Amino acid sequence: MKTVTIKDKEFSIFISADQIQQAVENVAEQINWDLAGKNPIFLVVLNGAFMFAADLMRHVTIPCEITFIKLSSYEGTQSTGVVKEIFGLNESVVNRTVVVVEDIVDTGITMERIVNSLQEKGATDIRVATFFLKPDSLQREVPLNYVALKIPNQFIVGYGLDYDGYGRNLREIYVLNS
Ligand code: 5GP
Ligand code: MG
Ligand code: MG
Repeated sequence: MKTVTIKDKEFSIFISADQIQQAVENVAEQINWDLAGKNPIFLVVLNGAFMFAADLMRHVTIPCEITFIKLSSYEGTQSTGVVKEIFGLNESVVNRTVVVVEDIVDTGITMERIVNSLQEKGATDIRVATFFLKPDSLQREVPLNYVALKIPNQFIVGYGLDYDGYGRNLREIYVLNS
């Protein structure tokens, strides 16, 4: 079993590069079918989704725009905890089909914030393409139109996902050894 050490933790191989590519192609096929004629704008959520997005967009053949956003986190003035706002979206989303491209939806709290924010900005058709979904962790009702892979509630790294900033460059997915 292939293992890697990232910083102070050991991880084992979980999903191969071939399995990842197959899952990406399946998502692209659905998108090409569903969104033909809709001229969507893809919003890639940095940093984690950079690798998924690069692979996905190579298989998306319909006319579309692609842009990149970050989430700026800051402590809210109330006791609601961390508030995330979209940063770096210069294109108008008014009356548009928007596809949010994410690495992983875990609790769904981040995605809920993104979707609410896009609604406020006037997007009419908001869809989500996420590489991973952890169905057992989901706490929010969010659109989940295109899910490449569903995984159990374990901590993973690779293919854009990091452990403390490291591991994003790995072309396979690794799971934390317990
Ligand atoms: P949420 O809980 O809001 O759906 O997910 C928030 C963020 O937690 C994700 O965008 C991702 O950055 C991080 N995250 C959730 N699960 C994992 C995981 O298994 N591995 C890594 N590296 N990050 C994760
Ligand atoms: Mg993410
Ligand atoms: Mg992270």
